[in-house]
Amino acid sequence: MPMSQSFKDRLFPVVDQIAEHYGTPFHIYDEVGIRETGEKLKQVFSGIDGFREYYAVKALPNPKILALMFDMGFGADCSSIPELILSRQLGAKGEDIMFTSNNTDPVEFAAAAAEGGCVLNLDDISLIDKVPEFPELICFRYNPGPRRTGNVIIGNPVEAKYGVTHDQVIEAYRKAQEKGAKRFGLHTMVASNELDYTYMVETARMVLEIAELVEAELGIRFEFVNIGGGFGIPYKPEQNALDIETMATEIAAQFDAFKSKHGYAPRMYMESGRFMTGPHGCLVTTAINQKETYRKYVGLDACMSSLMRPALYEAYHHIDVVGKEGQEKTEIYDVVGSLCENNDKFAVQRELPQIDEGDLVVIHDSGAHGHAMGFQYNGRLRPKELLLKADGSVELIRRAETVDDYFATLKFDADEMAPK
Ligand SMILES: *Cc1c(COP(=O)(O)O)cnc(C)c1O
Repeated sequence: MPMSQSFKDRLFPVVDQIAEHYGTPFHIYDEVGIRETGEKLKQVFSGIDGFREYYAVKALPNPKILALMFDMGFGADCSSIPELILSRQLGAKGEDIMFTSNNTDPVEFAAAAAEGGCVLNLDDISLIDKVPEFPELICFRYNPGPRRTGNVIIGNPVEAKYGVTHDQVIEAYRKAQEKGAKRFGLHTMVASNELDYTYMVETARMVLEIAELVEAELGIRFEFVNIGGGFGIPYKPEQNALDIETMATEIAAQFDAFKSKHGYAPRMYMESGRFMTGPHGCLVTTAINQKETYRKYVGLDACMSSLMRPALYEAYHHIDVVGKEGQEKTEIYDVVGSLCENNDKFAVQRELPQIDEGDLVVIHDSGAHGHAMGFQYNGRLRPKELLLKADGSVELIRRAETVDDYFATLKFDADEMAPK
């Protein structure tokens, strides 16, 4: 299922009032759903000592959402300076933050080390000498290359730009030891939006094997292994949810086996973004136009500046027309925005209830990589964000962009030069 029945049951009866109060379009997020998912993760992984989720901030970088994550005891996975600032503003410090950047600029290393530092996760062996002050605790991102097959979104590991190779991994930790590192972690991320739980079990097996290999060579005892993000969500109604119970049981068994063999086991970290927030948000829009040419079109008051995934990945996002679920009269529509790009379509040739202008059209699963991926191309601005709170009240948690925001970067001090 896309958006949960529970979210729907709490949102749809009042969505017209919310739309009237705030105006469309908006993303609205479900506090109850986010908390339930977070608590569920903690519960299923409670068999692994020191389990911690580092929420991947990029999925939905809103302070109110991040505050929910910290309230559940989660850390933050950041990969840019603004994400670090956002996390620290909300009180995350030190080992509450994993900094997993790639193609990193020295300025970013400095920011990561500032204000009490964080867990530095290095993407490449060549970066070791570029870290200004080498930290005591260091992690590397491991890329298994041909040892694993990738999934659709992240692609084949051999073609992925991330991480150190299998042949580099021992050398990476050896160099880190020479630089004075005393505490170690190991990270990988080899999937995105994966719904097959066995893939994650294999990933856990893989990182534990690498931890064992590095320990045998260098005598390093890993404090943690991080299996990354990539937990999938069912965007299509016919898809099944990821079986996290079975996954957690099988992963815990591997940690137990490691412990029996070595007398200790590393802690397990993960960095879910999409799984935490994806299904717990939707984009609420109004149908503003209808057009019948070679196809039937419904035009919404939002476009791909609010949700890029359909245009970017041809991703399916389920659509409901409020008050018309299950209606017998249907049409085949292309559901479009106003951007001057023909891929600005939320759905292509989708069977939907017959839509009238003024209908509220809800696009599911916009809680991750939705607003955050937005942009201003073509002068199409990003919409507001709302939070549906546990007590049923609604709060504005980000205003819509304005024309002033669009022009903000055109206000600057004059700066001209004449090259000699
Ligand atoms: C994007 C990202 C994640 C989160 O991925 P999801 O697919 O949203 O779970 C985690 N770790 C890193 C390093 C990432 O880049």
